Amino acid sequence: MFLSSHELNSPLVILPKLSELPMRCFSCGSTNQSQIKNLYGYDVCDSCEQTLNLYKDHTIRKHIASYEKKREAVPEGPTYAQEVDYRVEVMEEVYIRRRLKLLHIQSRLKELGKED
Ligand SMILES: [Zn+2]
Repeated sequence: MFLSSHELNSPLVILPKLSELPMRCFSCGSTNQSQIKNLYGYDVCDSCEQTLNLYKDHTIRKHIASYEKKREAVPEGPTYAQEVDYRVEVMEEVYIRRRLKLLHIQSRLKELGKED
């Protein structure tokens, strides 16, 4: 039986808006809304945020100074900010590659399970 064009244009399931979904800590799964904040696109609770050991500004300034000192020998090299941008990009690619590998295994396991 064919769906009418009206049906095809209407979602089968009405999902809540993203802004209405309760936040869930990416690390421990806590949904205690008063203790969860969004950090650069990831929901994280107060106690898990502490375990991230995010750098304080004075530490970042120290890193910039020591990076810039080494860069004096290679002035054409990337700045500290460019180096950080590059690392974020590379990390994302590595993450996707590893995830694809695992998703492939997961999918093959389902397929191989059917043969038993
Ligand atoms: Zn947490």
